[in-house]
Amino acid sequence: MAKAFEQPIYVTRPLLPNIEAVTERMKKVWDSKQLTNFGAQHNELSDRLKDYLDVDHISMFSNGTMALLLGLRALELTGEVITTPFTFPATVQALDWNNLTPVFCDIDPVTFNIDADKIEALITEKTSAILGVHVFGNPCDVEKIQKIADKHNLKVIYDGAHVFGAKVNGIPISHFGDMTMFSFHATKLFNTVEGGALTYHDAALDKRLQLLRNFGIVNTEEVALSGLNAKMNEIQASVGLEVLKVLEEERNKRHTIKRAYEENLAAIEGIRVLTTLEDESSSYQYFVIDIDQEKFGQSRDVVYEELQKHNVFARKYFSPLCSDFEWYSGLASAQPVNLPIAHKAVQQVLAMPYYGELPIESVVQICAILQELHVTQESLFQL
Ligand SMILES: *Cc1c(COP(=O)(O)O)cnc(C)c1O
Repeated sequence: MAKAFEQPIYVTRPLLPNIEAVTERMKKVWDSKQLTNFGAQHNELSDRLKDYLDVDHISMFSNGTMALLLGLRALELTGEVITTPFTFPATVQALDWNNLTPVFCDIDPVTFNIDADKIEALITEKTSAILGVHVFGNPCDVEKIQKIADKHNLKVIYDGAHVFGAKVNGIPISHFGDMTMFSFHATKLFNTVEGGALTYHDAALDKRLQLLRNFGIVNTEEVALSGLNAKMNEIQASVGLEVLKVLEEERNKRHTIKRAYEENLAAIEGIRVLTTLEDESSSYQYFVIDIDQEKFGQSRDVVYEELQKHNVFARKYFSPLCSDFEWYSGLASAQPVNLPIAHKAVQQVLAMPYYGELPIESVVQICAILQELHVTQESLFQL
């Protein structure tokens, strides 16, 4: 019998930088007496991220949700936006807060991202954009989506909360689409405690996003538009600058953990690893499995509960589906009959514990629990 863990194992732990280094930086902030409003730490982090993500334009925000909300606003979208039901609530709530109507498109059975082959059928004269999510770090079909967008004159926005630092065929992921949002929440690989950013190609957006995240204030005399407060402060930026220093080491550790999971899960029928990308293609953000109840012999929910009994706290990302939110019940595209793959996927996925400090022995033990839960055809005959 695989034994239970003495201490709880959570799905993730925040990547914490060296506390002395953070304190040194805090002293600089204290000396400057500037705690927010685009100070030295903010500007340094902005420059560093521009290099790291290999982009021309970046704007940083108080969190990823505000980044997306104001990014959509800056693009002056109207009417309907085609998106995925299989995402974190923030993706669609950013549409709601812009008075944009989500049009839910079913997902691809392999990547669990928006199914590019099903987008065109959903386009109407009201459609202004496609909002894709690179779910669990697997990139959307960026080429196909761009072709559709070009043909119908639509904007393309990506929720890239899971793909910090990832590449597609060697190309940084934020080169695709008009705009990409990143989240720097404590649970994300790169964090600023809370925080977020937008990357984009259009230089004119720099100015508009600057206004949108700071009350529309141009100078002491002029307020140009109705903005909000969504600035990243100096404390957040300071933490981020120190997290950047430990990022490569964390990616390497997660690479090793991922390999250990893959080796120990390979022989278990009915478990498919969703996050397969390696090295520069990977964000090393999540390690997610897809449990096929028929082949595995147990449902995802049973696995989830059994892991909990062993003190392992996996997560059912993303359950419930966004299309099942009560306020979308009147939308035709939100009806389950139109989203069969998403409804299947949401019953099967499980995000496993995944962070650099997770010992390899723990990974082996978690996989042993899964192996024990697996009900083979032979054992069924024996019953
Ligand atoms: C984390 C996350 C967000 C929200 O980002 P915050 O920085 O927490 O506001 C949005 N979309 C996805 C897919 C996420 O995982």
